[in-house]
Amino acid sequence: MTQMIINGRQVDAADGRSLEVVSPVDGQVFTTIPRGQQADVDAAVQAARGALDGAWGRMTALERGRLLLRLGQSVLAHHEELARLESRDTGKPMSTARADITVLARYFEFYGGAADKVHGQTIPFQQDYSVQLIREPLGVTAHIIPWNYPAQMFGRSVAPALAMGNAAVVKPAEDACLSIIRVAELALEVGFPAGALNIVTGLGEEAGASLSRHPDINFITFTGSNEVGVLIQQAAALNAVKCVLELGGKSAHIVFDDANYRLAIPAIVKGIVHNAGQTCTAGSRLLVHQGIYADFMKALAEEFSKVRAGTPDMDLTCGPVVNKAQFDRVNRYIEKGLADGLKVVAQGGIADGVPAGGYFVKPTLFSAASHDSDLMTQEIFGPVLVALPFADEAEAIRLANATDYGLLGAVWTENGGRQQRVARGIKCGQVYINGFGAGGGVELPFGGVKKSGHGREKGFIALEEMSTTKTIIQFYGE
Ligand code: NAD
Repeated sequence: MTQMIINGRQVDAADGRSLEVVSPVDGQVFTTIPRGQQADVDAAVQAARGALDGAWGRMTALERGRLLLRLGQSVLAHHEELARLESRDTGKPMSTARADITVLARYFEFYGGAADKVHGQTIPFQQDYSVQLIREPLGVTAHIIPWNYPAQMFGRSVAPALAMGNAAVVKPAEDACLSIIRVAELALEVGFPAGALNIVTGLGEEAGASLSRHPDINFITFTGSNEVGVLIQQAAALNAVKCVLELGGKSAHIVFDDANYRLAIPAIVKGIVHNAGQTCTAGSRLLVHQGIYADFMKALAEEFSKVRAGTPDMDLTCGPVVNKAQFDRVNRYIEKGLADGLKVVAQGGIADGVPAGGYFVKPTLFSAASHDSDLMTQEIFGPVLVALPFADEAEAIRLANATDYGLLGAVWTENGGRQQRVARGIKCGQVYINGFGAGGGVELPFGGVKKSGHGREKGFIALEEMSTTKTIIQFYGE
């Protein structure tokens, strides 16, 4: 049984209830976590408030930064242990889990270094006035995290909040939260005061909903599905608190007829099979110039069909999807694609020797005849890529934008003018030119437009999101 962390202590749920944690590799229960409820959330929010009023709230930015740096070092010292936990929980290949833990440490390193470099401003004002703008913490910040990259999402969400002096209450996903709990234990070991970082595990509609509606929180950052994002924004409105929403995506690659195949093909395959396609930024739509469509798809199919889904220890490109519901959902989409008349261009396989009962899906590459099928427009969150030809630059941009989402985009061309026009034409939060993914990009502002959400995380911009500006106006005349 794993325990939550509230007010610096490892605790069970107040009512003693728990949830089973199932391995995606074989469908078997391997541990339990507390099923936190309102009472646990209340205790965590109260602990966070107490930390702000106590030792944590009195720390200087330098001291907070040093603690974050120490936590980053501790994560690296426990790298293999954390990677094993992460892959056990999510089914990720070990190399992916290791890379995720490296990014987690990088968040603490980046924001630890940044904590004491957030400066204020002065503003010229009327005669005999001095005006200062200072950044202050928001207070108690709520962090609701998804299961697809628990460790990374935790670092991304929590490190800037702590750097700015907020006290955090985290509700990780019920499907995968073990690495997060372990890191919170490490935070206590390196000296974070009790209450600065609290973890309440449990179901979304119980612990998550209680946290998002809590009257004593000052901010919510949520990463997850669009449906729940809307509920979070409603809950934030109840208490008039700010929220940042990082939601789903249906990101498009646009491949022009002068694209460099050698760069594009491996990046496009990786962009959809990495993490078994359960990535908000997955490149799940592929738009290819009609002049090279047949040739490009042939070359892509060759690479795509080599992909195998396997267990974490087989360490292949792709693991299982996270749970039975996700397994059924992805397979339903593949069947829907076939029923809608989309053509299967290539299919990867499932490695020999995976355990029965695991949630392994065959990576599938479809070719579509038009953009109006469900597979082209809906987020599948699995290793399923759908391709479509386009005639010219204007049509490529129009198709890329023909989605409710706006998280990422990628343009593959050697033409400099076209690179800029298309990058500016795609309505989304981040665009790659001749590349994709960039392994974490802790330094780079990230977030969506349209139904992919609002607000920005990562980089320095997250420090602004997780703090507030106070204007101090002083009259110094006589
Ligand atoms: P989800 O929305 O079901 O769950 C996310 C979190 O919200 C979990 O911790 C869950 O317990 C909690 N939750 C569920 N119902 C809740 C409620 N009523 N009130 C409060 N909290 C609640 O999403 P998921 O299935 O875990 O993750 C997949 C989705 O996340 C995909 O749509 C994906 O695109 C998106 N995602 C986005 C980003 C990004 O940065 N934009 C990153 C990763 C995942």
